[in-house]
Amino acid sequence: MNARAWWLAVALWSGCGSSSLEIYEADGEEPFDDRSNIAQQGLVSCDPRGDTGYTNGSSFPITVVSADGRRAEIGTANAYAVMQAAARNQGIGIRIVSGFRTMAEQQYFWGCYVNRNCNGGNLAARPGHSNHQSGHALDLNTSEGGVLNWLNAHGAAYGFKRTVPSESWHWEWWGGGPGGGPCTGGGGGAAMTPSGCTTAQAEGCGNFGCSCASGSCSGGFCAGTGCSAAQTQACGNFGCGCVDGKCSGGFCDGTGSTAKNALDCGKFGCSTVDGQCSGGFCPGTGCTAKMTNDCGNFGCGCVDGKCSGGFCDGPGSTAKMISDCGNFGCKSIDGKCSGGFCPGTGSTAKMINDCGKFGCKSIDGQCSGGFCPGTGCTAKMTNDCANYGCGCVDGACAGGFCPGTGCTARQTIDCQNQGKGCGAGKCL
Ligand SMILES: [Zn+2]
Repeated sequence: MNARAWWLAVALWSGCGSSSLEIYEADGEEPFDDRSNIAQQGLVSCDPRGDTGYTNGSSFPITVVSADGRRAEIGTANAYAVMQAAARNQGIGIRIVSGFRTMAEQQYFWGCYVNRNCNGGNLAARPGHSNHQSGHALDLNTSEGGVLNWLNAHGAAYGFKRTVPSESWHWEWWGGGPGGGPCTGGGGGAAMTPSGCTTAQAEGCGNFGCSCASGSCSGGFCAGTGCSAAQTQACGNFGCGCVDGKCSGGFCDGTGSTAKNALDCGKFGCSTVDGQCSGGFCPGTGCTAKMTNDCGNFGCGCVDGKCSGGFCDGPGSTAKMISDCGNFGCKSIDGKCSGGFCPGTGSTAKMINDCGKFGCKSIDGQCSGGFCPGTGCTAKMTNDCANYGCGCVDGACAGGFCPGTGCTARQTIDCQNQGKGCGAGKCL
């Protein structure tokens, strides 16, 4: 205990300390820096927690977050993080040694001081009267290189003031500075660590023994290199590690797949390889879970991306093809609509639809039917010929008053451009 602390102690014991309120709020001795939060330096967790603050002995509700692994009032933490980042950009590593203190903590320090049996017997402010309890005070690592000089030169620009001349470590924020900060979004925001990860990402990766760089877990024995913590966790559910966003590993049920792939295929009793469901009794070998599911809706299995199986309503077709053909009352075989009363046998659903616009059915991709103006023609040919008042037969325009009977629409227009008519494919 130094001389000033002794004087204070005497003043307190004698009950005449009321004129020394500012000094009561001071620390008296520099808090011991055990440097246990070095690894968390620069990390801000904005997960807000309610606590009880005190000012002049009166309690009030206070919101506390974590900065450098130490508790700090949210406004103070925001201002501090902005200042800390600015200092870091100039090569100065500021760190909180002691931040917000609960009543129990301050009572502990006070008890140590009164009984001189802990905390070195250092002077402590009376419980309820420390600005560490009001949320305004941070004790910083001013004994480390360059920190105090930087704070003396720049702290005020960020709203931080040294309120006790003899205590170089004790800085208070009562407002001011440029504003902003990682926890300004109402808490829970994405505070960034120097390595380009959010606090949550860094903590999540740490759960797997990984560090975090640029949003992904990383490191030698890390189970999820190149994956987020969530991906690592998800792959772990399948007994896999995770590499570059894909599950991986010897007995892993989803090698080369995302955990979602593995989970989705697992619903069908399949393993997953390279994002495709796979395995002996798996109904969707070589298909994604979605393909497997979609084919299953038609009573089909799925093989290599196409629906398949004995009683399957669309073998060799995708589920979409089956569905589209089904809209015309057709089944689908190898991607073409098909079936007894199907208006488009041997045609895709699009062909059926297009021919249907002319009142035609579609056979093997050509429009067809009794009153169809384009028998033996595609819907496009039928349409082109119709622009000349022609029908279309077997790929050529046709009809009594048609100016290009026996010619395609293209031939007809080319001949017309030469001032000629068109017949049987030739300009006349
Ligand atoms: Zn302090």
